Amino acid sequence: MPPEKLSGKKLQVSGVVQGVGFRPFVYRLAREHHLAGWVCNTSRCVEIVVEGRPASLDSFVRRIASQAPALARIDSLVVEEAEPQGREGFAILESRRLPGTEALIPADVSTCADCFREVMDPADQRYGYPFTNCTNCGPRFTIIRSVPYDRPHTTMAAFAMCPRCREEYQNPEDRRFHAEPTACPVCGPHLWLEEGGRVLESDVLEAAGKLLRVGKIVAIKGLGGFHLACDARHHEAVANLRERKGRVAKPFAVMVPDLNEAERLCHLDDLTAHLLLSPERPVVLARKRDHCDIAPQVAPNNKYLGLMLPYTPLHLLLFSHAPAALVMTSGNLSEEPLVFTNDEARTRLRSLADAFLMHNRDIQVPCDDSVVRPGAGRFTIPLRRARGFVPQTVSLPVDSEPILAVGGEQKNTFCLAWKGTALLSQHLGDLDTVETFDYFQLAIAHFKDLSRKDPRVIAYDLHPQYFSTRYALAQEGVKLIGVQHHHAHIAACLAEHGRRGPCLGLALDGTGYGPDGTIWGGELLIADLADYQRQGRLAQIPLPGGEAAVRDPRRMAVAYLHAAWGKEFAQKARELGLIFDPLEGRILTHQLATGLNSPLTSSTGRLFDAVAAALGICRTRTYEGQPALELEMAAAEGEEGWYPAPLHADGSLLVLDTVALFKETVGDYLSGAAPPRAAARFHNSLARLLAQACAAIKDRTGLETVALSGGVFQNALLLTRLYDLLSEQGFEILTHTRTPPNDGGISLGQAAVAAARLEKG
Ligand SMILES: [Zn+2]
Ligand SMILES: [Zn+2]
Ligand SMILES: [Zn+2]
Repeated sequence: MPPEKLSGKKLQVSGVVQGVGFRPFVYRLAREHHLAGWVCNTSRCVEIVVEGRPASLDSFVRRIASQAPALARIDSLVVEEAEPQGREGFAILESRRLPGTEALIPADVSTCADCFREVMDPADQRYGYPFTNCTNCGPRFTIIRSVPYDRPHTTMAAFAMCPRCREEYQNPEDRRFHAEPTACPVCGPHLWLEEGGRVLESDVLEAAGKLLRVGKIVAIKGLGGFHLACDARHHEAVANLRERKGRVAKPFAVMVPDLNEAERLCHLDDLTAHLLLSPERPVVLARKRDHCDIAPQVAPNNKYLGLMLPYTPLHLLLFSHAPAALVMTSGNLSEEPLVFTNDEARTRLRSLADAFLMHNRDIQVPCDDSVVRPGAGRFTIPLRRARGFVPQTVSLPVDSEPILAVGGEQKNTFCLAWKGTALLSQHLGDLDTVETFDYFQLAIAHFKDLSRKDPRVIAYDLHPQYFSTRYALAQEGVKLIGVQHHHAHIAACLAEHGRRGPCLGLALDGTGYGPDGTIWGGELLIADLADYQRQGRLAQIPLPGGEAAVRDPRRMAVAYLHAAWGKEFAQKARELGLIFDPLEGRILTHQLATGLNSPLTSSTGRLFDAVAAALGICRTRTYEGQPALELEMAAAEGEEGWYPAPLHADGSLLVLDTVALFKETVGDYLSGAAPPRAAARFHNSLARLLAQACAAIKDRTGLETVALSGGVFQNALLLTRLYDLLSEQGFEILTHTRTPPNDGGISLGQAAVAAARLEKG
C-alpha cells in the first residue's frame, strides 16, 4: 500500500482559551493523533498548525471543539488548509503579541479537588502550601498585568520557578503543564502574620486560627483583596467588627470549610448546593435553619445567610485551625474600595484588624467576592458580579465598533463592547467616594489595555450628577450616547439573552433619572435595544425633602399616608407610631402641603420603604435597599391573600394605583393583621397589579415577551409571584441570570443601546 499523502491545517481558536489548560490539551490531542506541528498563544487567539494523515486531522479538529477543557469556552474556530512542511514532533511555542488583540482573559478559578487533596496530603511536596494551583485552577484575572496571559505578564513574574516546578511546567503529561501561576514552598510566595509590631513567619496559620478562636479580627489577604475575618459564632467579635467597620446592619458573608458545615447552618436545595460548589465560588444566599447558631448580628432581620466555601488553599488550610464558620467581609471601611495591597492594609485597616495574615503575591486587580441568590430553587439572581465571573464576556446581539459604557452611580460596573462582545468590569461599588472614583478611572485604563481597545464612543446615564456621567462628559474627541436609566436596565436583560426586542420591559428600582424631570423607578416600557417608549408607571408620590426621603423610610411612609388619607394623614401616622421631632414634623407637613423641595417619583423602591416603615418592620435605613429586604424577609410564607388596587389611564399612560395598594395594606394592618401577613399580602398584590398592567399592554400592543429588570428583582418573593402570574398569562419572561438586575447591570445595557443606535446610524 502506498504511504498515505500528508496534509496540513491551520486553526485559530478564540474565546476563553488562555489560562484554562487549552494548549496542553491541544498538545496531548496532537500527540494522540500522531500529528506534527505547534500550538501558540497569541494576543488574539490560540493558533495551531498541524500536519499528518487526513483522517487524523479531521478527528483532531472535531475533538478540539467537542472535548475542550472544562474551563475553556470556544467562541470561534477557524480552520484553513495549510501546506504540510514535513515537520516532526509537536511543540508549544512562545506566546506572540499581535496588534489589535482579541484574546479574552480568564477569570480566577477556585482551587480544584486535586490541588486541595495535595495540600492536605502529608506525603505531597505541596502539603500545607497555601499558594498551590494548577492548570485547572488558581488566580488569573487578579494577577494579570497585560496580555497574552503568560507568567511574565502576571504578578508571579517576581518568582523564579525552582527546577522541580519548571519540570512540571514543561512536562505535557503533568497537571501543571503551562500552569502560569504554579508555585511550591521552595520557589513561590509565602505567608506571614503581623500582629502589633511582631512578624511571625512560622506556624502562621495556627497562630491566625488561635487569634480567631479567641474573638480577634484578622485581616486576611485572599485572591482579590483583603477580607476582615472573625468567628461567626462569637457575638462580641461580630459586634466589634460591625462597630469598627462602620457597618450597622448590612449582612456579612460567612465562609465554612465544606458543604456539610453549610448544611448544618442552612437549608440547601440542589440549586444552592450547586452554586456553592461552582468553580466561581460566589457567596450564595441560603435559608438559615431554625437552630442556626451563627451570631444574629451576622445577618440581622434576615432569613438568609450569605455562605461561601473555601476557594484558595489558604482558606482551606486556615480551617484546620480556625473556628468552623468565619465572617469574611470585604477589607475596607464601609463604602470605601477594597484594600488589596499590603501597604494599604497596614494603614487603612489598622484600626479595623487585630492582626494581618499577609503574603507576597501581589494582587494586580482588586476583585470582591461575587454574590448570587437562588430564588425559590429555580432562579439564579446575580446580586454582585465580580471574582470568578469577571472578565467572562457576554455576547451582544449587535456588532459595533468599540464602545465604553460607564455605568450608573451605585454598584458601578463599566463595560467595553466591540464586535458583539461585551466585557464587563468587576463590581466597583458606589462612585461617590473619591477613592472609588479614582479606582474607576484606573480600572477603565487597565481594561482598555487588556482588550487593546480605545473606544471613541462613550455611553452614559442621563443623570447629570452621576460621577460616571461627569467622567463621560469630560472626555474629548469622542461620540457621546446618553441612555435613559430604565431603558438601560431592560436593554441589559435583553442583551443577556441575545435578544434585540421589542419587548415589554418592567424596570423596577429605587431611582433613575426621568427625562420628564421626575424621578423614575416603577416603569413599564416598550423597548428594543435602540429605543423605548414609556407605557405605564406606578403612581407618583412626592419625595418630601428629596434625598432626605430616600434615606429615611418614615418620610416615605408619611408621604404615602398623605396621598392616601389627605388631611387625616397625621392621625394615621400617630396610630402607626411614626413619630418625628416637632421641628422635623412641621417641616415635613409643610413640604407635603406645598410640594416644597419634594420632587415626584414613581419609584418602586420608595413604595417598599413606605410599607416597611408603616408596618413597623424597618424605620431606619442604614444601607441601600434595607427596608425592602427586611419587608421581604418579614413576609409570612404561604400567605395567598391580596388587596385589590386599580389601574388608571393618564392619557395613553397606564398608572398603577400603588397609593390604593398602600392604603389597603396599612388599613389591613391597622385593623389587626400581623405585619408578616400584611407584608406577604403586599407582595402578592403588587405582583398582581404588575401582571394586570402587563396584560393590558399586551392587549394594546400584542407583545408577548416581558423583560424584568431593576434592583427590585433581587426580591425573590416578588419575582416568583410575578413570574408565575405572567406565565399563566402566556408571557415569555426574561430575567437576569448572568448580570445583576440592579445597577451593576446598567453598563451592559448602555453598551447594547449604544451599539444598536450606531447600527441604526
Ligand atoms: Zn488545581
Ligand atoms: Zn517550586
Ligand atoms: Zn437602577
